[in-house]
Amino acid sequence: MASPVAIAAQVGKLLRGRALRPPLLAVRSQAGHLTPRRWLNLQEYQSKKLMSEHGVRVQRFFVANTAKEALEAAKRLNAKEIVLKAQILAGGRGKGVFNSGLKGGVHLTKDPKVVGQLAQQMIGYNLTTKQTPKEGVKVNKVMVAEALDISRETYLAILMDRSYNGPVIVGSPQGGVDIEEVAASNPELIFKEQIDIFEGIKDSQAQRMAENLGFRGPLKNQAADQIKKLYHLFLKIDATQVEVNPFGETPEGQVVCFDAKINFDDNAEFRQKDIFAMDDKSENEPIENEAARYDLKYIGLDGNIACFVNGAGLAMATCDIIFLNGGKPANFLDLGGGVKESQVYQAFKLLTTDPKVEAILVNIFGGIVNCAIIANGITKACRELELKVPLVVRLEGTNVQEAQRILKSSGLPITPAVDLEDAAKKAVASVAKK
Ligand code: ADP
Ligand code: MG
Repeated sequence: MASPVAIAAQVGKLLRGRALRPPLLAVRSQAGHLTPRRWLNLQEYQSKKLMSEHGVRVQRFFVANTAKEALEAAKRLNAKEIVLKAQILAGGRGKGVFNSGLKGGVHLTKDPKVVGQLAQQMIGYNLTTKQTPKEGVKVNKVMVAEALDISRETYLAILMDRSYNGPVIVGSPQGGVDIEEVAASNPELIFKEQIDIFEGIKDSQAQRMAENLGFRGPLKNQAADQIKKLYHLFLKIDATQVEVNPFGETPEGQVVCFDAKINFDDNAEFRQKDIFAMDDKSENEPIENEAARYDLKYIGLDGNIACFVNGAGLAMATCDIIFLNGGKPANFLDLGGGVKESQVYQAFKLLTTDPKVEAILVNIFGGIVNCAIIANGITKACRELELKVPLVVRLEGTNVQEAQRILKSSGLPITPAVDLEDAAKKAVASVAKK
């Protein structure tokens, strides 16, 4: 039986890509993992462009879509050494493997020709890292950047943290590696600065973080200045997380952001139109994108009972109770709040396109949601889609009597359930009968 943790990991798929893992288990609140929202993730090159526009120091780079472009970019860079980086939304690329056989999603070389050859084995192939699904993620673009010698790698992240009710800067002198490992093995090497969102970052806080990260002499002021700029960027662009790993130091005495990942708050889309226009949905499952078009949140699982719910908490509870009754959820589709009948229809359409689905369980608790609207959507969908699989419906809350009347008088083969337990039992039984 899948544990709640395993399910939570599936829910974590919503926090896709480089946000797939919680950035820092030590500071993320539990609720933060489970929030079923698909944050906007940008590719590294897009994040770096934003950073450089805000005065944050990143290395010079070009983006290439083909091996030929990569070769040309490498020549144009005219750098002593070049770093070639596969652009996918997952981290851990350095240690990743391509299905072309190539090892490593990050390569250093002095020869532009080698950049072309390596890019050939990257673009169009899947890269598997610790943070991707097993089959990996297809690489469509590579970043060709100036390589710099790194004398020291540190870690720096700014994130919104529920337990602090605001932004927190997290840093460690041990960067470049998996920060979760550092947090587990050397928690004393993780430093935090809580920022008052109204007062903003204080000089003393930036200086203290720079010191904790191990920057000394003139590098300390430079690092503090970069930290402040990163914080201003974080605010300006409505980020929920800016993670720089490595936040490095060069032998020439420069502080540079070598790798960056930024997540954004979806609620700020209205004032961050340019940023949201960069959203790269190509790494999503097509069905997730289709769901997003109708403001629905879809998560694929590997069982055979489709769950149609409202709210992440209810989704988790529904999955759990299906498991407890010996069944397995095929997916769940979260309807969210202010629902329209047409969304219910679209939701059913999506759920039934999944060939794994052998039964549908509707579990809606009407608060803001009016059950009658759901019931009308369900009956419409059943008729028009000529539903072939058993449908178990549990509705509770606002206007439930009217909803039940609509379902009953529809004459459709809908199995009503009195509560969640009953619904799960009936759904599991309907699949077992087949
Ligand atoms: P990921 O975190 O996905 O593995 P990174 O961008 O952090 O990818 O790259 C992995 C490692 O490659 C870095 O920790 C760093 O040591 C090295 N690296 C990355 N960019 C550069 C660069 N511009 N110059 C030199 N080394 C680099
Ligand atoms: Mg990194």
